[in-house]
Amino acid sequence: MTAEITARVKEVISRNYNVKSFRLEINNAPDFQAGQFLLVKLNNDPALKRYLSISSSPTEKCYIEFTKKLTESDFSKKLNNLKAGDQITVQYPFGKFVLDESAPKIAFLSGGIGITPIRSICKYAADKKLGADIILLYANRSVKDVVFKDDFDAMMKDYPRLRVAHVLCETEPGFQCTVGRINAGVIKHQIPDYRERKFYLCGPPQMVEAMQQILIRELEIAPGAVVTENFQGY
Ligand SMILES: Cc1cc2nc3c(=O)[nH]c(=O)nc-3n(C[C@H](O)[C@H](O)[C@H](O)COP(=O)(O)OP(=O)(O)OC[C@H]3O[C@@H](n4cnc5c(N)ncnc54)[C@H](O)[C@@H]3O)c2cc1C
Repeated sequence: MTAEITARVKEVISRNYNVKSFRLEINNAPDFQAGQFLLVKLNNDPALKRYLSISSSPTEKCYIEFTKKLTESDFSKKLNNLKAGDQITVQYPFGKFVLDESAPKIAFLSGGIGITPIRSICKYAADKKLGADIILLYANRSVKDVVFKDDFDAMMKDYPRLRVAHVLCETEPGFQCTVGRINAGVIKHQIPDYRERKFYLCGPPQMVEAMQQILIRELEIAPGAVVTENFQGY
């Protein structure tokens, strides 16, 4: 069951040149599972509603965070103007993009802003010290598009079962990454035991569809071992 609450903006965090996180102060709010999403409603205007993944983990108490790639839309502009102390309405939790805690090996494939629910799940796994072995392949056009790099670096230090491999379209001096796109060759190279893993894909629908084809058609992963979340609207 979802619930609608009005919450105060606690903090706005700039993640890169066009991505911001919004932390809401939460008291007696509904529980959620890492990877789920919420519906943000601005000014009670039906045109100003968007589904956005929760980027914080249930282990991060006192606030709930969502993270939006800011575009030229009215919704993005209004969101971009929010500041600490403002109030907004959110409804949650929605969605089934949640960790199968019985799977011993997990791989996340993500692109751009599609990292948001994965950040939530990885933070949850790291805080709970879950037994799963986790690899994340995170694709971006360039290093300036990467979101949550510091967060993932800190998680990897604290939780060695997590490994993050960046994939960028262009080289960046001093930044460790694979140059190109996530394809069958990159998956085989970065995830040699890919046949043993449960895959979670998140990003724009075109990217998710392409990744799914690679996994199922080229790498012969069973469809049941692939869980997807499509960011409709990109
Ligand atoms: C489950 C889920 C989780 C998401 N999580 C995130 C997230 O964490 N961060 C993030 O930045 N974005 C997320 N999105 C995408 C988000 O909901 C917006 O669609 C996207 O951010 C574009 O909105 P905009 O206002 O910036 O651009 P707009 O210009 O308003 O949207 C671009 C185009 O997409 C259309 N559109 C907008 N929303 C939808 C929709 N839900 N379905 C179909 N068409 C739509 C608009 O009509 C427009 O034509 C998520 C989407 C879904 C479904």
